[in-house]
Amino acid sequence: MSPPAHVLVFPWPLQGHINSMLHFAAALVGAGLHVTFVHTEHNLRRVDPAAASPRLRFTSVPDGLPDDHPRSVGDLKDVAKSLMTTGPAVYRALLASLLPASTHADADADGRGFPPVSCVVADGLLPFAIDIAEELGVPALAFRTASACSVLAYFSMARLMELGEVPFPVGADLDEPVRGVPGMEDFLRRRDLPSSCRRHADTHEVDPLLQLLVKFTLHSCKARALIFNTAASLEGAAVAHIAPHMRDVFAIGPLHAMSVAAPAPAASLWREDDGCVAWLDGHADRSVVYVSLGSLAVISLEQFTEFLSGLVNAGYAFLWVLRPGMVGASQSAVLQEAVEAAGLGKARVVDWAPQRDVLRHRAVGCFLTNTGWNSTLEAVVEAVPMVCWPFFADQQINSRFVGAVWGTGLDMKDVCERAVMEGMVREAMESGGLRMSAQALAQEVRRDIAQGGSSALEFERLVGFIKELTA
Ligand code: UDP
Repeated sequence: MSPPAHVLVFPWPLQGHINSMLHFAAALVGAGLHVTFVHTEHNLRRVDPAAASPRLRFTSVPDGLPDDHPRSVGDLKDVAKSLMTTGPAVYRALLASLLPASTHADADADGRGFPPVSCVVADGLLPFAIDIAEELGVPALAFRTASACSVLAYFSMARLMELGEVPFPVGADLDEPVRGVPGMEDFLRRRDLPSSCRRHADTHEVDPLLQLLVKFTLHSCKARALIFNTAASLEGAAVAHIAPHMRDVFAIGPLHAMSVAAPAPAASLWREDDGCVAWLDGHADRSVVYVSLGSLAVISLEQFTEFLSGLVNAGYAFLWVLRPGMVGASQSAVLQEAVEAAGLGKARVVDWAPQRDVLRHRAVGCFLTNTGWNSTLEAVVEAVPMVCWPFFADQQINSRFVGAVWGTGLDMKDVCERAVMEGMVREAMESGGLRMSAQALAQEVRRDIAQGGSSALEFERLVGFIKELTA
């Protein structure tokens, strides 16, 4: 009899990637598999040490940066460069130590035995993790934590370039429709493409970051399969268009909402302010605007002022996540005071919120969001209408889906003006149409993840696929 399946799960060391891959890990554990989850050493020190369970354990690799490096959002390039340089050797050594020849090394601190690693599921943005696994004889699957529609745009980039759509012509009208992304020609405009398509528009050059993202996306074809944290009712068409590029594709989300035997442990890299849930308890149903721009976005002082004025003028109570360092170099205490003073007793500011609990709270009426894919899924599942202010990566295309495809929110992209913000917040709080669309979509998605639904069945198929690779 072959040993039980043991999956090494390796996400990019960013909050959005960790969250969705940790939910995936928990779902695997719930299905009876063993999982070793790889953090960077820096992040492992920041997450809850009590999170491990009998079939889930955490390990780490160095990210290659000195301990005192700030690793702030502005330094992401340093983290990426360092991880790509030092990562392959340490990852190879780690994986080799978890293979059958080294089973003696494979007992954790409590002495619980884990079978040898039989499969790797690596972030699709870590192509070396896929190549090295296969070199060591371990089958590897890729997992993309972004939306499938954004990944389809990367798959379509050669066609977009052939058609002259990308790079954008100098002085391009961003409202022009874009040809070349299958299934999206009716509603996709230039401004909705992933953000790296529009950088360097003035020089008519292709952004090196875009080239890298396309390269990594095409590299996923080498993996045994590509996994998405999405559902058929959200992105079934995009997943179907990606399928021919891949050996296999699985759409198994939204993972955070799957009812699994072993729920995911907390994985916040910041300390959650639980007091804000008690604060919400004191508010009427659907009376509060929740504002969070995710774990990476940084805004200018001017943008902060427009956001704040728009929110105050809209007149509702609001809960605003302002991460330290999020508004340029401004001191968060000063900003908190500014928000609280302007909010005239109706505002609450926190460094970091327990977002899923907040979105599920009856007092929340709408969500002003950066449309990071995790936040989008979390709002969809809780049927919370969104006002979208996307920053980068897949957020531009996600917000187009929210505004023009699903009709569950309003897309404010590229316009940061207090009057627009005020009007959209009012509409999202009051519009029966948006709320009805949000509720209808939430129901469809809940059907996808319920027993017998498309995501649940795909997850079962994936577990079988992984077990077969192990056998
Ligand atoms: N999040 C949270 N508390 C906050 C803000 C965000 O727990 O105060 C979580 C949120 O629930 C989501 C993740 O952080 O799971 C952010 O990922 P997303 O893909 O939405 O955006 P990114 O941070 O990658 O821009």
